[in-house]
Amino acid sequence: MSKINANHQVRLGPILRLIFFFMAALLLACSDESADQSGDSAGQDNQGHTAPSAATIAANEAFAETLPLSDQQDWQDARRGFIAKPAALKIDDAQGETVWDMPAYDFVEGASPGSVNPSLWRQAGLNNVHGLFEVTKGIYQLRGFDLANMTIVKADNSWVIVDPLTSAETAAVAFAFAMEHLERLPVSAILFTHSHIDHFGGIEGIMSVLSDAEKDALRIIAPEGFVEEATSENIIAGPAMSRRAMYMYGKRLHRGERGHVGSGLGKGPAFGTFGIKEPTELVNETPTSLTIDGLEFVFQYTPESEAPAEFTFYLPEYQAFCGAELVSKNLHNLYTLRGAKVRDALAWSGYIDEAARRFEQAEIYFGSHHWPVWGRDRVQSFLANQRDIYKYIHDQSVRLMNSGYTPNEIAETITLPEALRSNFSTRGYYGTVKHNAKAVYQSYMGWFTANPSMLDPLPETETAVRTLAVMGGSEKVITHAQTLLNETASAEADEVNKEYRWLAQLLNTVVFAEPDNMKAKLMLAKVYDQLGYQAESAPWRDFYLSGAYELRHGSPQQGISPSIMKDVLIKTPIEKFFDSMAVNLNGPDAEGKSLRIEIQFSDLSRRYVLILENSVLRYQALAENESSDASATLALTHPLFVDILVGDAGLKDTLFGDDLDIEGSALDLFAFFSLIDKQEGVFNIVLP
Ligand SMILES: [Zn+2]
Repeated sequence: MSKINANHQVRLGPILRLIFFFMAALLLACSDESADQSGDSAGQDNQGHTAPSAATIAANEAFAETLPLSDQQDWQDARRGFIAKPAALKIDDAQGETVWDMPAYDFVEGASPGSVNPSLWRQAGLNNVHGLFEVTKGIYQLRGFDLANMTIVKADNSWVIVDPLTSAETAAVAFAFAMEHLERLPVSAILFTHSHIDHFGGIEGIMSVLSDAEKDALRIIAPEGFVEEATSENIIAGPAMSRRAMYMYGKRLHRGERGHVGSGLGKGPAFGTFGIKEPTELVNETPTSLTIDGLEFVFQYTPESEAPAEFTFYLPEYQAFCGAELVSKNLHNLYTLRGAKVRDALAWSGYIDEAARRFEQAEIYFGSHHWPVWGRDRVQSFLANQRDIYKYIHDQSVRLMNSGYTPNEIAETITLPEALRSNFSTRGYYGTVKHNAKAVYQSYMGWFTANPSMLDPLPETETAVRTLAVMGGSEKVITHAQTLLNETASAEADEVNKEYRWLAQLLNTVVFAEPDNMKAKLMLAKVYDQLGYQAESAPWRDFYLSGAYELRHGSPQQGISPSIMKDVLIKTPIEKFFDSMAVNLNGPDAEGKSLRIEIQFSDLSRRYVLILENSVLRYQALAENESSDASATLALTHPLFVDILVGDAGLKDTLFGDDLDIEGSALDLFAFFSLIDKQEGVFNIVLP
């Protein structure tokens, strides 16, 4: 049972380190594995990925026929206003580790290879267009310096920076590059459009070049709920999400025709040094009008949409609408494959509708990802398509659900109307119609399809073992699978994908029943290769190819160090850490144990008591003179607490050092911490 980690050493650092991986995992660098791995086109590449089959090549060619790929509008828009780009946009951190590497994507050029869906190839090419761009005189964008865009807006005598990217390294390079080509006016404000780290994490890269006078006068404007959501969104589920994010963003894949080509939303996450700053002003209603150095911003508050805290805004003087990430040049996620709470499709669509009407004067749209749209009619039609894609998926999924369709059946049945299908900005480069339709079902119905056989099914491995026995054993299934694999060559293009999907299910059964069966694993890897090559969605491609990679090379040995998140974690409410600690309590091991531990934050003058009983860990804040009745008390500073959590300071060493005070029973303290599981975040996915 490799999925259950029974290791509970008395070390607080690693114990909780993976809790925080979620945000970090969004930002996985591939630099260590991004060397050219083109390999032998007839055989396998250096990571083992096989050549596209004749069936995949034919299916991708047929796919190309269904789309107006010769339409040049997006290419014109992506290049419009180009000012300059760095010769080779490669950004390293202070340790010399590569944080950002655009040249690694230079291979995305020309006709699509058989191993990449042609529609995704097009999107990957568009996302390769990078540099400094003039959106209109006074609004500039840095695109391709990170996963997201940084926008620079001219106020009367200063710059307003919108979304300072993911990491300090990329933000600093992007801003410096802009200032080489634009006038270095003071920076009067920084806007965080929403609580996802690719839109605020690079703040220190900007702060580092501001003068003291600029810093003193700096306004930081964010949607209400920003800090809470930015610092704590998904912390509890961090280890699982970060592990799955490795798949979603192709963390272990090389960049190449048989590897990672981009993420649909942009190129990839920039894994550098993250930070956050407390806003000086919050937006919490629509409309909110703020004047920043003489320039009016009209905000639309859009919480619980693409992000839990988000806003868009309109600039009357420029007649420009910033859609943040509420809208983008692809279908976004109602459900994100790394795992997250399902997003509200109706609210999301409603906000887009509101924006289209409220800001109908807009002649320009620009956003936090991708390239702008110019012209009032085109902006309106872009917004209408974005509005309708989410509502269509919502409404039609519910219609089918109410007719008794299961999630898988809905995903297979739902088709878009021609207007939304042939529109590139609603194509599933990031989210997909299929997995978003399942998200709608999930949001109303949850996991159960109402079929009693699915009420209490046997778990995966047991099902696989029993199924394989009925099928006559692995040899027989592998032989059958090989026959099917050969037959894909003559399958109709629209059936090819189904055949590979079935093969994946079949071979997955063998692998789960016999995880050491190399023949089955390699055959399944080959099938995942083909499914990846056919996928239009970048996360789907990366999921399939990551699955293939791990069948060939195994699960990762190591997660990611959370210490880069320290600046963000220091702003995280302390209670969130206790919640995270509680979900790592090993319930069975805690059977029959009762403990009370007091934690004192000497610098915050705050005390808590952690209470363990009934195998449940809970916490209470203590009033000033309230007794905790604890058998042990741990006194430390908040930064030290965070240091210990991220693993920069080991608890054991710290316990014997001077930075931490223990009163009462050290034994109880150790007993307590030994009950907290250490989550490595490297569990198996394609193996049992
Ligand atoms: Zn984003």
